[in-house]
Amino acid sequence: MSSDQFRKYGYKVVDWAVEFMNTVNNRNPTSDVKPGWLWKVVPTQAPENGESFESILNDLEKVVCHGMAHWQHRLFFAYFPAGNSWPSILGDIFSNAMAANGQTWYSCPVSTELENIVMDWCCKFLGLPAFFLSTYSEPRSHGQGILQCSASEAIFYSMIWAREDAVRQLRPRFPSKKDDPVNGKTRADLLNMLVAYCNNECHCCVERAAMMGCIRIRKLKADKKGVVRSTTLLNTIEEDMAKGLIPFFHCAIIGSTGVTSYDDLMEVGPVCQKYHIWLHVDAAYAGSAFCCPELAYLKQGYEYVWSTNINTNKWMMCNFEASLHWVRYRTKALAAFAGPKWESTTYQYPNNVPPDLKHYGVASSRRLRAYKLYCVIRNYGVEGIRRYIRNHVSLARLFEAYVERDPRFELCGGSFRFGLVTFRLKGYNSLTQKLNDAINASHKIHMVPSHFHDKVVIRFALCAEYANERDVDDAWNAIDHHATEILHEAQE
Ligand code: PLP
Repeated sequence: MSSDQFRKYGYKVVDWAVEFMNTVNNRNPTSDVKPGWLWKVVPTQAPENGESFESILNDLEKVVCHGMAHWQHRLFFAYFPAGNSWPSILGDIFSNAMAANGQTWYSCPVSTELENIVMDWCCKFLGLPAFFLSTYSEPRSHGQGILQCSASEAIFYSMIWAREDAVRQLRPRFPSKKDDPVNGKTRADLLNMLVAYCNNECHCCVERAAMMGCIRIRKLKADKKGVVRSTTLLNTIEEDMAKGLIPFFHCAIIGSTGVTSYDDLMEVGPVCQKYHIWLHVDAAYAGSAFCCPELAYLKQGYEYVWSTNINTNKWMMCNFEASLHWVRYRTKALAAFAGPKWESTTYQYPNNVPPDLKHYGVASSRRLRAYKLYCVIRNYGVEGIRRYIRNHVSLARLFEAYVERDPRFELCGGSFRFGLVTFRLKGYNSLTQKLNDAINASHKIHMVPSHFHDKVVIRFALCAEYANERDVDDAWNAIDHHATEILHEAQE
């Protein structure tokens, strides 16, 4: 393709994207295609000779749109938002056009520097502890922020960093050989003694991270509100230690996937500190709300946290692969992934060069990952992000009020719901399951079910950037209609 052709089709694609977004609500939020449909639409062999871009654009509707779930649709209330916005799209175009590989500072200085700066911006406006900041922002800090592709990746890395740190710290923790549970143990023995914990309301990616890392994990029973109490954590630690195990990692949650429950860090933090347990907080969805001062109480206890993750690609209008990940001591991460030389390194940057970001994850190559987030933050400003979040929160309240007013339904989960309301029909689980199936079978509106304390619940998540009261009303009317039919059938 020549640069002139790129210009021509580039304009067409931008026009297409605008038209698509302006009319997305005329489509159904979910697709009715059956598995394997695309194999009947697209040739099963790659074309031998290149085709014009015109012909590629011509079948866009048939090949792509037909099989899409429209996550930006006004009646898409499933999962959590797939963050997006015009500045995010434009930012991605820029970084794609530049196509530089920022695997080291020298290979593309702006890649490392902009990522460090944007991570520090976020740390500051989200009001997270200054120990996560880079040394450029805060000379006394030893922290690091990195943009990972996903929350799952961030949690996996944190678990591995914590494990490596635990093994390194075990011997110094027992200066006297008497009563030393690790005396005479090999590294393999030590790894085998470690145990990680998580709130049982955590996303399944926490368990997957443990499986990938061959790490023993125990899911701790949360209370009625989805919170792991310090007594539960404490009892489990003591039980495990009595068996000769060594607890080393706990994943707490702020904004669980099922019901946006949140742990009390002031409760679990001191326990983790006492037992040398690395406390990670998964705030993948809800963490974006930390920028609202009225929600600052949710961050209480963050001073006990060793690492945390927040997806701007959920609730900060930034597209995928923009998962904020902070670690309190960068050398703990570097020692695990970049080798033992970092163990002895001071916390300062050697020769004033910040560590290469490739040392904080699996991939070596790295696009200019931070640019789209930089565009989003500059274009909306922190106040614009707050406005967007507060709109979702207040619409969730409106929906919550509809549920509360209707005696057929009950609300589930904790007291503060962010932009998600979880509810169910009173009575058997099968009623709520049927209601969810009926809602989705229409393809006009989309919600997904979840389980909370053995109950089937429906999640109503505000997703669209410009969600408004009419969308909530339409959703409630559809729910009301299907619920009436289902309860009527159940009585017959
Ligand atoms: N943590 C929470 C609380 C989530 O809700 C999700 C996904 O919805 C994840 C982790 C996994 O996120 P990702 O898809 O970025 O790996």
